[in-house]
Amino acid sequence: MVSNSESLYKILSDCLSQVQATGIGPDGLVFPVDCADVPEGEHKIFCQNLEQIFFMLNESYRYAQSLAGGELNAEVSRNNIFAMPLKALQASLKHLTWQTRQVAAGDLSQKVSFLGDFSLSFNLMIESLREKDALEQRLKTITDTLGEGIYLVDPHGCLVFANPEAEHLLGYREEEMRGKQIFNTIHSRQEDGTIHPHVDTRFASAIRHGHAYQDDNCVFSCQSGRLMPVSVTCRPVLFDDTLQGLVIAFRDITEQKKYQQSLLTINELLEKQASIDSLTGIYNRMKFLKLLTVEITKAQRYKSPLTVIMLDVDNFKNVNDDFGHHSGDLVLRALAKVIGNSIRTSDIFARWGGEEFLVVTPNIDLNQGLQVAEKLREQLSETTFAIPRPVTASFGVSQYREGDSDTSMIHRADEALYRAKKNGRNRVEPE
Ligand code: GH3
Ligand code: MG
Ligand code: MG
Repeated sequence: MVSNSESLYKILSDCLSQVQATGIGPDGLVFPVDCADVPEGEHKIFCQNLEQIFFMLNESYRYAQSLAGGELNAEVSRNNIFAMPLKALQASLKHLTWQTRQVAAGDLSQKVSFLGDFSLSFNLMIESLREKDALEQRLKTITDTLGEGIYLVDPHGCLVFANPEAEHLLGYREEEMRGKQIFNTIHSRQEDGTIHPHVDTRFASAIRHGHAYQDDNCVFSCQSGRLMPVSVTCRPVLFDDTLQGLVIAFRDITEQKKYQQSLLTINELLEKQASIDSLTGIYNRMKFLKLLTVEITKAQRYKSPLTVIMLDVDNFKNVNDDFGHHSGDLVLRALAKVIGNSIRTSDIFARWGGEEFLVVTPNIDLNQGLQVAEKLREQLSETTFAIPRPVTASFGVSQYREGDSDTSMIHRADEALYRAKKNGRNRVEPE
């Protein structure tokens, strides 16, 4: 029984001293007096009020502990006057948690107007997120509408992003390629269709070392299996000097390649036309001179022999006169064939004009050249042509001399040929 104020004071004083010395223990702040033991009167009322205050302090203490531990749904008695400010803080934290969740879901309209400095920081964060979002939107619009395919790979060569044009050109959807090694998809084959030896490609090197490059001779594998010729620009993506990946922009250049190819074909055709005699199909005078110049240079450099054989059909005018121009043409064509089949592939054979032809025989001296000419002469005289008359030709042979030009060599062969004509035709004369 707590009978007087001294004993009550002592119990309370001991209790408070212990709380101050050791803090609040696991049982909390326990009121040290059992009010039932206090006789009716002023002391009892005092004890009951104090017990109520101890209870509220204890409850506030536990409530604060729960909040500090992150339990935002902790509860406290409604009439606990010590917990009121904590309850206001709890409401703010709860609202803030909800707002943060909204931001995470993409709602950047959230604004915090409580919690002082914290509100400022939160609002600044939202502001910068909003700017980032606007920038991302702008970039997305650009990549969405760009006429070039763009994709992004991580440092392992796995695709991270592809724009709609890349999807359109390659025939893959972005989600089909995302996370996959592009060596197994887009970069899987090279121009001839063989598997890419990707360790050697510029792309692999760009991935390893963060190089930039531009290449107009790449091919990308489309989903359909088609190999698409592309022009590629590759740039490293760096953050704090660390390679984050590569961004690749590319253009389909199929039409351009086709156009280039047709230009090449046309050029080849034109070059052929410019160097081939249309009647006989052998080289013309222009091409002959070019090739003879090359052979003269070689003969000079390697000190090797070189001969030119000139031949002219005998009395060809009579052929035309007696059998017609068309028959004359047939004879010229057949003669070109006979000679073409009798010489070496390394020899050069051309129509000099009219019924005159030239043969250049590299690595052959004058004597050997005369033998070749003699063989050709015999072959012609033994050949049966489309006219009922033997066809013969006269030959003049010249050998390369130090300081000779194409003209001087041909001139000497022509002089020898003239002699062959003068000396009776169907014969060979040396220079
Ligand atoms: P020679 O033995 O002295 O060489 O007498 P030739 O009659 O052969 O010489 P000429 O220069 O008098 O006549 C050459 C003839 O070749 C005249 C020309 O009509 C003919 N001729 C030149 N080019 C062609 C051609 O492309 N087709 C035909 N059918 N005849 C041609
Ligand atoms: Mg002639
Ligand atoms: Mg003639």
